[in-house]
Amino acid sequence: MPAESFVQVNGKTRYFDPWLRDTHLTFTVTHIHERLQTPFQSIDVFEAQGWGTVLALGGVTNVTDRDESGYHEMLAHPALLAHPAPKRVLIIGGGDGGTLREVLRHPVVELAVLVDIDGEVIRCARQYFPQCAVALDDPRAQVIVGDGLAYVEQAAAAGGQFDVILVDSTDPVDAAVELFTEKFYRHCATLLGDGGILVPQSDSPTFYLDRVAGVYHTLSEIFSNTRLYLGQVTAYPGGVWAYTAASQTIDLATSIEPQGARVRQLEPDLRYANGPFIAAAFALPTYVQRRLQGLPAAALPSLADDPADFDV
Ligand code: SAM
Repeated sequence: MPAESFVQVNGKTRYFDPWLRDTHLTFTVTHIHERLQTPFQSIDVFEAQGWGTVLALGGVTNVTDRDESGYHEMLAHPALLAHPAPKRVLIIGGGDGGTLREVLRHPVVELAVLVDIDGEVIRCARQYFPQCAVALDDPRAQVIVGDGLAYVEQAAAAGGQFDVILVDSTDPVDAAVELFTEKFYRHCATLLGDGGILVPQSDSPTFYLDRVAGVYHTLSEIFSNTRLYLGQVTAYPGGVWAYTAASQTIDLATSIEPQGARVRQLEPDLRYANGPFIAAAFALPTYVQRRLQGLPAAALPSLADDPADFDV
């Protein structure tokens, strides 16, 4: 359980994400909808001035009305645009429904399976984030409450196949740790075969470059093409977020046509991403490039791995 996140400051309730304490992001809370503890994580849902509704899991900001679209669009669209015919998509985590909503914007998608371990996240999404949860009831969606590793293990053993797998997990703590392991990625590789694409959300290059490089290097052992790309998510540490795309045959950095018909068809519905922006997302800052190449990188050290280490 993280340190207490709701704190009274000058007569106002403020929310300090314990993981973001040293990044200066706090929320002025105007209303607390719910605080609960599930077998997997604590859940806080509240209104914050300027941000709309906020969902925090394990004390970590996961979804805000203000910037959820940027995160969900950049997790989903690069892989879906790079794949020639993404008919079957698997989302691991993502119980809020935002990634599913973006996946289902592609008419070519016939089935999108979402597997989240915590049914309470899905219930909260339906109650407080209707703009995300709308996708959960789409006839092309299959929503499963269950463990992501167990699901890919069983699906791979049963000969299952997907064109794209998106890992919309919490950061690598508690139940999500297993979603950052080589074992999990190898099952994903089996499900994807040669032509599929895997994209896990991969953390903050500013504050957790070790984690970012860890995902990249593990995937590079398994897949022939591995590319890191970046997007902006203001409410996450550092405001810049990493995603890693891996495939045996598709290089995402060269496979997306920025002015292509599929991206043009999509653009009117998007708030954040567009063709040229997605193409540019594969350009990386020097310290990130150097770290991925195994060269010494002039990056800042990672934040403490345990929020209890922060001086509350
Ligand atoms: N965008 C978010 C972020 O990076 O902060 C992630 C949002 S999404 C709500 C994360 C989801 O991953 C949560 O609903 C959580 O329940 C789910 N999750 C964590 N571990 C999991 C596991 N082992 N299997 C399936 N889902 C898992």
